[in-house]
Amino acid sequence: MSAPEWYSETITPGVRVSFEAGRVVHRERTPWQDLVLIENRPFGRVLLLDGATQVASADEFAYHEMMCHVPLLAHGHVRRVLIIGGGDCGLAEEVLRHRTVGQVTQVEIDAAVVRVARQHLGSVNSAVFDDERLKIVIDDGAKWLAARQEQYDLILVDSTDPVGAGAVLFTEAFYRDARACLAPGGVLVCQLGVPFLQRDTFVSAVHNLALTFPVLSCYLVAVPSYFGGHLAIGWASDGLKPDDASLELLTVRASAARLQTRYYTPEVHLASLALPRYIGEAFEEGCKPLLSRKSSTSTMPAVAVQPPDPEAPPAPASTTTRSRSARGG
Ligand code: SAM
Repeated sequence: MSAPEWYSETITPGVRVSFEAGRVVHRERTPWQDLVLIENRPFGRVLLLDGATQVASADEFAYHEMMCHVPLLAHGHVRRVLIIGGGDCGLAEEVLRHRTVGQVTQVEIDAAVVRVARQHLGSVNSAVFDDERLKIVIDDGAKWLAARQEQYDLILVDSTDPVGAGAVLFTEAFYRDARACLAPGGVLVCQLGVPFLQRDTFVSAVHNLALTFPVLSCYLVAVPSYFGGHLAIGWASDGLKPDDASLELLTVRASAARLQTRYYTPEVHLASLALPRYIGEAFEEGCKPLLSRKSSTSTMPAVAVQPPDPEAPPAPASTTTRSRSARGG
């Protein structure tokens, strides 16, 4: 009997995490990256790009539910969604569970990721390929967005870490183009990695967001296959905050959406905004450009104003920062 094959991810210099491949389901060198899909006992099917874990069929629910339901339920009126990256299509599946969403455009740079995910990750994405609301574009998300006039209620950046093709998705220029494509009341949500191991990348991404947006926040999710502690998800908008909707309102919205979730609950939604001190401090450090803008602009209110009618579409512009925050390869 041959020895089992192991796939190792160098998380950061000095730390390597290995997955045993019960079976290598697919391996290919795409025009963009090395793609490997393996079968692992606890994690199920695991997709690695250039050696970095992207998605595991056993725990993808945690990441995808939190990336999707937090902004959708906090906003309450999302109709048009743009996903940048997200080639495994698990995030698109989660978004399309919301029947009120009318249109999802996904811009993924690597056609091979979508093809392999469609063929081999059915438990993650099978519902999406026959859904007429989804349009998949194969292009560089940053270039594509820079040429757009359309507006979106929600932009989700489900990217690889800021290396290679993914690096551009963490830049100020990209965030500026994204802000220009947000409809009034719209929100940008992006994966910012694991702050414990990737503090510098995290601070730098928050800094670039803070150069661009007046309202920033960060919330956390525990994804077992992402080694190193909490994964941070960034929130940026012109006014709406992730906790503008009360627990009661989130509960009403979640129940109206008839969501069957395994990680998200309205309670977890609000609790995920509480940052451990070391992450809160890193987030504050990244927010410096925003904080200094505020202190030098006397006309900016210090606190965002809650819309009077909680069911009304969110107000487009107010300013506040909530304390909070990149898994690096
Ligand atoms: N959830 C994962 C994580 O946290 O690492 C990300 C999953 S998803 C597979 C990431 C996708 O981003 C990959 O399929 C990759 O090809 C895509 N990507 C990287 N850079 C991109 C770019 N500039 N434009 C569009 N897609 C990009």
